[in-house]
Amino acid sequence: MPFSPLPFNPEHSYQDLSDQLFAPCEATPVRAPQWIAFNEDLAEQLQIPQELWATDEGLQVFSGNQTPEWATPAALAYAGHQFANFVPQLGDGRALLLTEVLDKHNQRFDIQLKGSGRTPYSRGGDGRSPIGPVLREYLVSEAMHKLNVPTTRALAAVATGEWVQRETAQPGAILTRVAKSHLRVGTAQYVLHLRDYNLLKRFADYVIDRHYPELNNSEAPYLALLESVQLRQAQLIAKWMSLGFIHGVMNTDNMTLSGETIDYGPCAFMEAYEPATKFSFIDKRGRYAYQNQPAIGLWNIARFAETLLPLIDDDPDKAVAQATTTIETFQATYEDFYWKEMSRKIGVSDINTAKPLIERYLNLMQAQQIDFTQAFRFLGDQTPERAQRLFENSDSWQLWFNDWQEATDNSQLHQVNPAYIPRNHLIEQAIQTATNHGDLTIFNRLQTMLARPFIERDEFNDWFEPAKSEERITQTFCGT
Ligand code: AMP
Ligand code: MG
Repeated sequence: MPFSPLPFNPEHSYQDLSDQLFAPCEATPVRAPQWIAFNEDLAEQLQIPQELWATDEGLQVFSGNQTPEWATPAALAYAGHQFANFVPQLGDGRALLLTEVLDKHNQRFDIQLKGSGRTPYSRGGDGRSPIGPVLREYLVSEAMHKLNVPTTRALAAVATGEWVQRETAQPGAILTRVAKSHLRVGTAQYVLHLRDYNLLKRFADYVIDRHYPELNNSEAPYLALLESVQLRQAQLIAKWMSLGFIHGVMNTDNMTLSGETIDYGPCAFMEAYEPATKFSFIDKRGRYAYQNQPAIGLWNIARFAETLLPLIDDDPDKAVAQATTTIETFQATYEDFYWKEMSRKIGVSDINTAKPLIERYLNLMQAQQIDFTQAFRFLGDQTPERAQRLFENSDSWQLWFNDWQEATDNSQLHQVNPAYIPRNHLIEQAIQTATNHGDLTIFNRLQTMLARPFIERDEFNDWFEPAKSEERITQTFCGT
């Protein structure tokens, strides 16, 4: 059979920008790769050749054992504030950008291996990933996509057949991540610190071309870029809040310029509604707790604004004044999105009517430690039994429910409020059985459930409920 040409166009537009922004690097081969998962829907969208779809050839590529002729593998440089401390050089320490591709709709995506071995940015790390974080990212990022949250995607997961030493030795794995780009607030910070005005300008122009082409004709494109990145972040965080999603490590290197969720290290979903909830073990002070996410979003946007100052105006004072005026609108922009999302969840289109109802409902949830997901899900039921039972038919709930019933104008709330989310204890079960027994049954079943989060199915009744007290996960770890 003649070799079939690639149906996609591999490109490397970012690497064309400057060789200061990345380090060419090959993946380190692994001993005995085996498939864990392959995302056919995404592969089809990206026009990945069928030869690579969960085939032996694909296994070689997505394990890093073979570099295809269309790849230009590179580790990308970035900086970042980690828990508010600036680190001038982080970079892909265990990831490699394989190529950029244009999908069916001519939208550009990065294809990246994660866990593929050491790079020039690895510092002390081994460049590898245990299977746990790979499964978590695969499940949660794909679930987020199905929940209509902008996110990086998972194309493939392979086991390496090697051990990775952490607190214990664990099976290694590699995730293939797909993103609109891997440009982060931390990437802009890295470019700023190179102190090359022309490169900074070309970088910002690149971000505009790739993610905000509508700004190309703007009179003040860099201020507009700040405003647009801010808008998408405000929108993204509002989505997270509306699902009880806690990112867990909102360092500036984990915030994209595209507005996609990235880095599923210690992330977790809140069950009982409690605004101070945090899971990440390393987040001692709760900097990245549920309720702090909007404020941290703004803090990160302010760091992004700093990178644009030289482009906004030659006069530093004027630049600061203009950027400040822009980021001062973040809070209001965020709140607009938040209240819109929440109003949708209770099906009350008039925001002014919705707001006090939402506040009252959240207070009830907090007081009675009610599962956030179920509290909203049950509002879409034809009859109030499940909601009633959830709140133990309390008087305050009954009063609220009557008021809400008078106000709601949407009877299709099951299409808005998911039945299934990647509950932490389920993810943990999938990880444990895979890590300890090489058994992917739970992982696969979770994937099936989360592929259609809005459709309740009897076969998943056992995974509908929040964790029982003995199952409850109270801490998460980056696991890197
Ligand atoms: P993260 O916690 O995933 O945001 O990563 C923070 C930084 O640590 C990034 O520069 C990563 O590339 C790097 N890093 C994390 N895990 C590893 C590892 N196993 N080997 C090398 N570098 C790593
Ligand atoms: Mg990261």
